[in-house]
Amino acid sequence: MDIFKKCTEYTDAKAVIEKGIYPYFLPLAENEGTEVVYEGRHIIMCGSNNYLGLTTHPKVKEAGIKAIERFGTSCTGSRFLNGTLELHEQLEKELADFVGKEEALIFSTGMQTNLGTISSLVGRDDVVILDKEDHASIVDGARLGYGKIERFRHNDIEHLERVLQSIPEDRGRLIVVDGVFSMGGDLADLPNLIPLAKKYGARVMVDDAHGMGVTGGGRGTAHGFGMDNEVDLIMSTFSKSFASLGGFIAGDSNVIHFVKHTARSLIFSASIPASNAASVLAAIEVIKAEPERVERVNAIGETIRTELSKMGFNIGNSVTPIVPVIIGEDDLTFRSWKALFDNGVFVNPVVSPAVAPGQQLLRTSYMATHTDEQIEKVLQIFEQVGKDLAII
Ligand code: PMP
Repeated sequence: MDIFKKCTEYTDAKAVIEKGIYPYFLPLAENEGTEVVYEGRHIIMCGSNNYLGLTTHPKVKEAGIKAIERFGTSCTGSRFLNGTLELHEQLEKELADFVGKEEALIFSTGMQTNLGTISSLVGRDDVVILDKEDHASIVDGARLGYGKIERFRHNDIEHLERVLQSIPEDRGRLIVVDGVFSMGGDLADLPNLIPLAKKYGARVMVDDAHGMGVTGGGRGTAHGFGMDNEVDLIMSTFSKSFASLGGFIAGDSNVIHFVKHTARSLIFSASIPASNAASVLAAIEVIKAEPERVERVNAIGETIRTELSKMGFNIGNSVTPIVPVIIGEDDLTFRSWKALFDNGVFVNPVVSPAVAPGQQLLRTSYMATHTDEQIEKVLQIFEQVGKDLAII
């Protein structure tokens, strides 16, 4: 049997392309943050993770450019061998301080951070316990590990307790949750989860890819709940609020030391270029110096949630600047995406398996740098499209 047979038989995406409503891999000609250019048309970006709008901040750009001039374009090797710069270590110290942990370790993406951290920590005799809406990189990290995987219903603390009860006492346990869930824009129920974890001797890791820079005054979801010390490991990415590329894990020194020497996605992959590290350092400086950005993105999130709900859209349980518009089936999700796109609003259509069947949605997300005029225009277009397609 030809191993490529499945490729010729794969028609799901082709069917959507033929209908002229294919929404993925769209090549943008320009990206100035809140506006992008596609085939000569300016479109308001409501589908990026550039929450604080820092990808175009002069200080962040300048830091990247200066780092290229000084260090060149690549480290051409792993952190483990030739690819560690003083700059990486300086950033690790800054990140540990930012999230209130002893040490931090930089990986080359957030995906690699989750793959390496979870798989190295969860050994044969251990159990990793995941929320059903955890990000794919957490699930894949768990799959790469040799331990057992258990899952609990999204933010369902009673179900989590039943799962914890079912695990034999001699097993190590790691609970991993998103701080801000990437599709729903809701928060992990840390105030109820942490006491339970303590009761059952489980360690807790929070992936705050979408919380860092946004929740807890910018310092993340654990900080927002006043639980920085109770969360054992805080993970995040540089590809969202930090306006770069890379990821990190932060925690107690001995845990970070262990991960540093056992995580294969760290050891066998090249480190981030100096320009990426320097941009993150500059982004953190800006976040500290301009707290109004954090306030602004949260205020925009609140306006959007209020207005879209008022219009009659189903926005689920969002409490952040990630606001899902739940549509509930594939075809209407793609058609509403296309109508918004044609009218000048960029959002992300999300269908199964990224969300459960029946929960197909338009993922919208906002930036501190969106103007009031842009937000008003986005809301008007949403209302029009919602009515035209009988969604509201
Ligand atoms: N965790 C979560 C919750 C994410 O949303 C993402 C990216 N979408 C990642 C991890 C992976 O981060 P990166 O893009 O840096 O690989």
